Amino acid sequence: MVESAQRAYRAPCPGCGAPVEFRSAQSAFAVCPFCQSTVVRQGDTLARIGKMAELFDDFSPLQLFAAGRIQDKPFTLVGRLQCGYAGGRWTEWIASLDGDRTGVLSEDNGAFVFALPLELDREAPPAETLRVGATAAFNGQHYTVASNEQVTLVSAQGELPKLPEPGKPFAAVELRNDQGLVLSLDYSSTPPAAYLGRAVELDDLQLTGLRDAPAKEEKGRSFNCPNCGAPVAVRLDDSKSIACGMCHSIIDLTQGIGGELKHVEQAESVRPLIALGSVGQLQGVAWQVVGFQHRTGVEPGDDEPFGWSEYLLYNRKRGFSFLVDAEDGWSMVRPTTGAPMLDESAKTATYLGKAYQQQYAYDAETSYVAGEFYWQVERGQKTYNRDFARGPALLSMERSANEITWSSGSKIDSGAVASAFKLDDNKDMFARGDAAPLSAASGMGCGTIILILIVIVVVLLLMSTCSGRGGGSSGSSSSSSRNSGGSYGGYSSGGGHK
Ligand SMILES: [Zn+2]
Ligand SMILES: [Zn+2]
Repeated sequence: MVESAQRAYRAPCPGCGAPVEFRSAQSAFAVCPFCQSTVVRQGDTLARIGKMAELFDDFSPLQLFAAGRIQDKPFTLVGRLQCGYAGGRWTEWIASLDGDRTGVLSEDNGAFVFALPLELDREAPPAETLRVGATAAFNGQHYTVASNEQVTLVSAQGELPKLPEPGKPFAAVELRNDQGLVLSLDYSSTPPAAYLGRAVELDDLQLTGLRDAPAKEEKGRSFNCPNCGAPVAVRLDDSKSIACGMCHSIIDLTQGIGGELKHVEQAESVRPLIALGSVGQLQGVAWQVVGFQHRTGVEPGDDEPFGWSEYLLYNRKRGFSFLVDAEDGWSMVRPTTGAPMLDESAKTATYLGKAYQQQYAYDAETSYVAGEFYWQVERGQKTYNRDFARGPALLSMERSANEITWSSGSKIDSGAVASAFKLDDNKDMFARGDAAPLSAASGMGCGTIILILIVIVVVLLLMSTCSGRGGGSSGSSSSSSRNSGGSYGGYSSGGGHK
C-alpha cells in the first residue's frame, strides 16, 4: 500500500492511448495532456468520463510539476482546477506531499493560500445557513464567514483527487479568523470537504520549475474607448475596470472586451504624483503602479471632508498592494487573509495576537479613478471605514453593502516612496504631516524657545475651548492627522476564495 503510493502509476489513456501518469495515490482523476480526455482510475485501468475544456490563461507564475517546500516538507504541483464564480475566477493547484497527502495551493489575484484537508469535528452545516458575516466554530476555533458563493469548475489539468462536474454549480464557503486561518468548505462532494490553510508568499515556498515570465506583456489586450475612441490597453488579464487615459471614462471589463462596453464619464480631478505604469522598489519588491484612486472621507457628525489617494501596486509574485498617500503620511497595506476580531467597547481590533487601537471611523467615497483594477470600480462608491493603529503598524476595515474587507500594513517614509519611484527631485511634494520635526537637541536659539512657548500656550487655550467636543481616544485629533489606510473593496469579492 505504502509502496504503491510512492511509485508513479501509469496507464494508457482510453481516449488516445497516450500514457497518463499518476504521481499521487490520492488522485482518482486525471486529464490526459494529449487529448484532454477526463479519466477516472478503476483498478488497474482508466475509464474515460468526458473531455475537459481548454484552460484559460491566468498568467500564473506556477505550472504543473513546479516543486517547493511547505513547513519543511517537499511538495510537487500535480494538478490544477480553474474555478469561476459571479465575481471572477481563481485557481487551485493540487500539491502532492510525500506522495500520499494532498494539499491545495490556491491562487487568487496573486494572493496564495496553502491548505491541507481537515477532518471536521462535526459535519459542515448546509451552505445556505452560513451567511456572510456570521460566526461559526469548527474544531474549537471561531471563524467569520467571509464569502459564500456558487462556483463552477471551468477547466482542469493534470491529476486530481476530486473532479467536480464541469459547469455544474456548487457552493463554496470560506471562513476566516483572527489567527490568519482560512477554512474552506467545498460542497461539490457529500459530505462537504474541508481544508484549513493560511496565506503564503511564493518566495517562502522555495519553488523550482516556475513558468517563465510572459514575454514583454505583448499579450495585453487593447481596444478603442467606447466614449472617445482613443486606444486603451489592458495590462492585467483579470482587470475588471479600466479608466481611459484620454477622456477618463471608467470602462467596465467584466463582460469581456469583444462586445459593447459600458462606461461612465468622469472629469479628471486629481493628477497622480506617481505616474501610472511606473515601477518602484518598495520593501524589497518591484511594484508597478497599475491603478490610482482618489477618495474622500467624512467623520460622522462632521461636515468637513478630507481626501487621500491610493495607488494600486502589482507584482506578479506578490499580487496587489495599496500605497496610501494621506495627509498624515504614506503607508503600504494589503488585504489580510484572516479576519481580525473587533472589540466594540475597547475600540480595538485584534489580529494575529496583536491589539490595534481605533484611530478614525468615517464614511468614505471614491471621487476619481485612473488605471485598471481587479475589481469593478465605481465613482461615488461608498464604504464605512475604520482605521486602527499599533505604533507604525496599521489595520483597517472597510464595510460595503455586502462585504467587509480588512487590510494591514505599516507606515512608510515619504522619502523612501519618492526614491523608490526615482522622484527624489520632487521629494518635497511627497512630504506629509508625519515629517520629522526639527530636532530639539540641535541648538535652539532663545527666540525659537519663546516662539514654542507661545505656541504651546495658544494650543492649550484652544484645547480648553474645544474640550466640550470630541473626547474619547480620538478627541484630540487635529484636522491634519487623518489617516486612510484601507484597500478598497475587491479582495473579498475578487479574492475571497480558497
Ligand atoms: Zn488521451
Ligand atoms: Zn476615452
